[in-house]
Amino acid sequence: MDITGLTVDALHAAYAARETTATEVCTAVLDRIEAENPQLNAFITVTRESALAQAARVDEALAAGESLKPLAGVPVALKDNQCLKGVLTTCASKILGNFVPPYTATAVAKLAEAGAIFVGKANMDEFAMGSSTENSSFGPARNPWNQDCVPGGSSGGSAAAVAADLCVLATGSDTGGSIRQPASLCGVVGLKPTYGRVSRYGLVAFGSSLDQIGPFGKTTRDVARMLGVLAGHDVHDATSAQVPVPDYLAALDGNVKGLRIGVPKEAMGEGLDPQVKAAVEQALRNYAELGAEIVETTLPNSGYAIPDYYIIATAEASANLARFDGVRFGFRVEGAKTLHEMYQKTRDLGFGTEVKRRIMLGTYTLSSGYYDAYYLKAQKVRTLLRRDFERAFESCDVLLTPTAPTPAFKLGEKTDDPLQMYLSDIYTVTLNMAGVPGLSVPCGLSTEGLPIGMQLIAPHFAESRLLNTAFAYEQAHPFPKRKLS
Ligand code: GLN
Repeated sequence: MDITGLTVDALHAAYAARETTATEVCTAVLDRIEAENPQLNAFITVTRESALAQAARVDEALAAGESLKPLAGVPVALKDNQCLKGVLTTCASKILGNFVPPYTATAVAKLAEAGAIFVGKANMDEFAMGSSTENSSFGPARNPWNQDCVPGGSSGGSAAAVAADLCVLATGSDTGGSIRQPASLCGVVGLKPTYGRVSRYGLVAFGSSLDQIGPFGKTTRDVARMLGVLAGHDVHDATSAQVPVPDYLAALDGNVKGLRIGVPKEAMGEGLDPQVKAAVEQALRNYAELGAEIVETTLPNSGYAIPDYYIIATAEASANLARFDGVRFGFRVEGAKTLHEMYQKTRDLGFGTEVKRRIMLGTYTLSSGYYDAYYLKAQKVRTLLRRDFERAFESCDVLLTPTAPTPAFKLGEKTDDPLQMYLSDIYTVTLNMAGVPGLSVPCGLSTEGLPIGMQLIAPHFAESRLLNTAFAYEQAHPFPKRKLS
């Protein structure tokens, strides 16, 4: 039995049958990380000792005859922008290169409470700004399907780690596509929950009105299980919603008969790679065979989504990142003669190019004189984008689009052209603007053998519907597993 490649269901069956132990699984995963991470660079920090201690506690509970908690003995990778008390949390930035948080993020604490084993902190684009994980100050992560290609971003380390069996589940964060796009490029399942579904307490903020933590897994069932653990109201996050958490696993019956799947016509046009288009069209035919009704719909303002996102997200980022000034935490330059010089040099040396670009853009759009012309207008466009979804959901139960316009691209291919990089998120950013949930599930392989994903979209808090729609497809059309190296 290959114990590193299991799903949560398979792992739990093996634990229940006493075929393996959490310590054995954890050791195998850690050994695999040691062997593969030098190439993939999916982890910034590996937490071997604390992982083995967590595994030992799970084994004790099992030996004492306790029933298995939802994630008991499941190796999990945490994106490195989520605080785990006592463990380096860098956001892949030099400015937080020595930051050890004194507290744990609520989402992370919930995973620990459910029995998860944290094997390490995953690589990412600096402060979650990027679509390829090439903006990490720890070097780029690589795509396990082809190491010359990027894993996507910004949660590229998390997606690569799940795809390469360096963990069973991983967390990501998604501000404009950072869970769904890397899931698509790495051939795994990734879900951005409804804004407010998961607490943001302890997540280093990028765009506070857009950010959500969410799960990565090898299957929809694993993602459903993990969402059930992550979701719920938190007194520490006033934007977390007071909406009951349903049983996401129980909702998976695989029945999509009569489900109205809307295809926004804007999503299937210009700029879409023909192979991605063909894979998505094939998936639509497959859904029709399963009894779903395919309807054409429209998101008429989606052409404004990227410019709108890059005004709102950068404005929020410029405000959020003002706190990294060398005073309270993280890196500080030596030898500055004045406070001003210390701020300036710390921020100049501490932030990478893309982060600086965003801070400057955001500061500009928020400055007096430009605020009305850019920021205020962008907020109005945001309302239009939300209304687009409300209208589409009047006649559809879910929407289906490609997740990303292309399969994984080569390292270095887009680093000199930020606009090309920004376009990777053309189908994903609209959801963050509207706050609705989205899931990427693999739906094909390109002729070069790279994964292709499709994005399913549902109304606010309808994650169960989203998961069941993906589950139905996955049951009928299992995705080929990557050949392990
Ligand atoms: N790629 C987008 C960006 O660079 C989205 C990032 C994210 O979702 N964190 O902003």
